[in-house]
Amino acid sequence: MSLRDHLLRRIAVEGPLPLSEYMAECLLNPSHGYYTTRDPLGAAGDFVTAPEISQMFGEMLGLCLAQSWLDQGAPAPFALAELGPGRGTLMADILRATARVPGFRDAAQVHLLEASPALRKRQAETLAGAAPVWIDRVEDLPEMPLLLVANEFFDALPIRQFRRDGGAWRETVVAAEGEALRFGLGPLAPLAALAPRLEDTADGDIVELCPAAPAIARTIGARIEAHGGAALIVDYGDWRSQGDTFQAMRAHGSADPLETPGAADLTAHVDFEPIAAATPSAHSLLTPQGVFLERLGITGRAERLAAGLDGERLASHIAAHRRLTHPAEMGSLFKVLAFHPHTAGPPPGLEAAGHRE
Ligand code: SAH
Repeated sequence: MSLRDHLLRRIAVEGPLPLSEYMAECLLNPSHGYYTTRDPLGAAGDFVTAPEISQMFGEMLGLCLAQSWLDQGAPAPFALAELGPGRGTLMADILRATARVPGFRDAAQVHLLEASPALRKRQAETLAGAAPVWIDRVEDLPEMPLLLVANEFFDALPIRQFRRDGGAWRETVVAAEGEALRFGLGPLAPLAALAPRLEDTADGDIVELCPAAPAIARTIGARIEAHGGAALIVDYGDWRSQGDTFQAMRAHGSADPLETPGAADLTAHVDFEPIAAATPSAHSLLTPQGVFLERLGITGRAERLAAGLDGERLASHIAAHRRLTHPAEMGSLFKVLAFHPHTAGPPPGLEAAGHRE
């Protein structure tokens, strides 16, 4: 049975599905899910991420984590963890960049949270030398200092979406019209979780909630607060987004999210405010990716790498640097939020949030 038929059957039995259910089925259905059945990354896939654009991204994040580790007294052992590692490229670059930090590699126990069997296989190949441990839930991270990265992980978590109607909300649902899937609106309902959004929205406005994000942030933040470490969360979005950010990507272009369930990537912009609010640790100011990478010295690194290149390879290296940092490319849309213990400062490249939020 195709995923469309499975969804039509579910809708016939349960009624229209909240967007979060639709997204979860499309991305992670065990036999038809987008991530469970394929490697979607790279030029031949549907989208390209920062670590796939250039090794410099992972190098900067690796040095940032290693400096935090040194600043906190080089605790050993520690968990070096990644959420949603894709092809394993980012972790491989982090390990290479930190190989010469004395003691770092020996103390690091690599943990990967990955839902996709296809991508776990890919990560096993890329990271064969690092003896990674795969986990199914963040709660399975060991109780020890934690250095964690998550790049384009939170945008893949299912969202719920609501349209304001007076003082209450109607939820976006996926309904059936014959054999076709169509967006609809659920019944009018007050929602305690959205009470604060009555202050900054007007009738007809759309807001989104990512129910899984705060719980993940709380668990990671609790490890960091109790045992030390840091987390770098990188994604597109903003402190508090507004409007419809639900989107489908296929073959490097936008697609209709209901047209080909399971065959397109579905994402939403990340709201960092609920992630920051959920962590018991301290957190940094939300910082544009371009600013963060510049502060860590990506341009100096780019110049050193450029010295060994010419022709096509030099041109694509320069384009990659621009793509990662320029405000018109990924530099502003992508943001970085760090968690750190209250007893330590934020990782390099980021400022403490203090009492500004
Ligand atoms: N971080 C990588 C890949 C980003 S794509 C990069 O920057 O290239 C999103 C990744 O998160 C994929 O590895 C996907 O399989 C994984 N993923 C998505 N939802 C997940 C979930 N609920 N639990 C665990 N992993 C998930």
